Amino acid sequence: MPVEPVAIAQALGLQVLEAQLDENTLGALVKEPGREPTILLNQNDGQHRRRFTCAHELGHFVRRSEEQDEYARIDLRNIVSTTGEEPEEIYANEFAACLLMPEDEVRTLSELGMDDLEMSLRFKVSRQAMQFRLKNLGLMASALQEA
Ligand SMILES: [Zn+2]
Repeated sequence: MPVEPVAIAQALGLQVLEAQLDENTLGALVKEPGREPTILLNQNDGQHRRRFTCAHELGHFVRRSEEQDEYARIDLRNIVSTTGEEPEEIYANEFAACLLMPEDEVRTLSELGMDDLEMSLRFKVSRQAMQFRLKNLGLMASALQEA
């Protein structure tokens, strides 16, 4: 802990680059036929957001690998898609949450009385992402008391 999504992406054969992207673009997964897949992260974003974006784009990569889809497209993650209701966006967001905040670990820390702020620092995610994860696991009530 914390999980390092960039290292995991690299171990899976992806290139991870920080790039100058416009302020509404959090990142992208770029895959062109015959070339290594690449995750782009917005160099102006903070560490927590870059980590989540990397994990999110990794989710897209894993899903498409499972489908053995030889795709050639650029997947832009922008502010709109963070709350997206498209199945692929939901999948990528859940993948990122599970990767960065493993359920067993979250449950253990919650039982030990750690609150959402402490956990967000431990997992190196935004407090908002941590609260969302706790809510999804049905653990948010106790975290709210602490906050
Ligand atoms: Zn996405």
